Amino acid sequence: MTPDAALPWYRRLHWQILTAMALGTLAGLIGGEAIVPRVAWLGDLFIRTLRMVIVPLVLTSIISGVASVGGGKSLGRLFGKTMGYYVLTSFLAILSGLVLVNLIRPGDGADLAISPQAALPEISTPSSPVDLLMDIVPTNVVKAAADTDMLALIFFSILFGAAIATLPRSPRETLTSFFSAGFEAMMKLTSWVIALAPIGVFGLITRVVGTSGLASFKALGLYMVTIASALTVHLFVTLPLVLLVLGRIRPSIHFRNMAEPLTLAFSTSSSAATLPVTLKTVEEKVGVSNKISSFVLPMGATVNMDGTALYECAGVLFISQVLGLDLSLGQQLIVVLTALLASIGAAAVPSAGLVIIFIVLEAVNLRGPEVEAIVGAMLAIDRPLDMYRTAVNVFSDSCGAAIIARSEGETEVDTEVR
Ligand code: ASP
Repeated sequence: MTPDAALPWYRRLHWQILTAMALGTLAGLIGGEAIVPRVAWLGDLFIRTLRMVIVPLVLTSIISGVASVGGGKSLGRLFGKTMGYYVLTSFLAILSGLVLVNLIRPGDGADLAISPQAALPEISTPSSPVDLLMDIVPTNVVKAAADTDMLALIFFSILFGAAIATLPRSPRETLTSFFSAGFEAMMKLTSWVIALAPIGVFGLITRVVGTSGLASFKALGLYMVTIASALTVHLFVTLPLVLLVLGRIRPSIHFRNMAEPLTLAFSTSSSAATLPVTLKTVEEKVGVSNKISSFVLPMGATVNMDGTALYECAGVLFISQVLGLDLSLGQQLIVVLTALLASIGAAAVPSAGLVIIFIVLEAVNLRGPEVEAIVGAMLAIDRPLDMYRTAVNVFSDSCGAAIIARSEGETEVDTEVR
């Protein structure tokens, strides 16, 4: 097979996706709401195919990956590094949000009475750390799979893989090769799904632009600029520095290898839907082993959400500014900590970040109809911010996989643009 980097630009998938985005924007602007029912189904169909591969792909990937790491010490070390990375980068992200929202103060004098409101989607979120822990342990694995309950599935798969690693040679080899073969087949299937991406992205973007138009974004302009700037700092300054310092990896190479998942995260607004592409790209283009990518990426898609964490913190501070309340340093610290927890509990689907903002608001006693009205206005213009923070979420997971792979002695990581 020709490596992607050797293909002419128009045959490279991320260029096709970017072109589809541009065409979708045009179609949405020209066709408005009328065009949406005609093309939106293309996007829905694409998301369905992506969701179709998630469960079997993640199961086979984690089980075969963990079975090859072995249980015990090496698994523990990998787990420690992964968690350390998640917490470090989420905190750095929150910091960017905190600093910029305090510098720009987009909420001061913002007039939200004129902004359109939107109703919150129903997304269930754990309400406390203990609830989150309970959610992680499934009572029925088949049901967890049927509900695409990712954390529960990941938990079971890691334990199952670790159990395989402890078996005597014959059953261990049988099971490991069974799940590795299943994983290879799922990767193949995923590449067929990915080939549909440009068509799906066209449908998704046409819907976003066709239904919201551009006018509704004006009232909350400064707020959007603030969040987007903080996300930009994290994506283009902080994470590249982390890549350089912790992984000795050239950020420009990593960005180029990650072009496909980045463009897809942006168009789907869902880390979970992007996960199949992230897994495939991090293995085949970034050059990380299945052992590490299967450990860091599926868990990262739900647990490590830098963009969302940043958003929780900046969003709550924005709301307090609109209400004319200045949060004390102590309260801001509470916001930082709950923003981290909330981002861990957030589902990897569109708008989840905005739904869970209530957890953080509750922690500093911000509630009531006024608060709900402001969140409603934020939701009306949330999509572009959601797209951007999802791209940041996915990028951070991929940096984690690359850095941890390097630290485990893998030498093929990001050595060239593939
Ligand atoms: N849509 C984001 C994601 O899937 C979560 C969020 O809304 O912040 O990563």
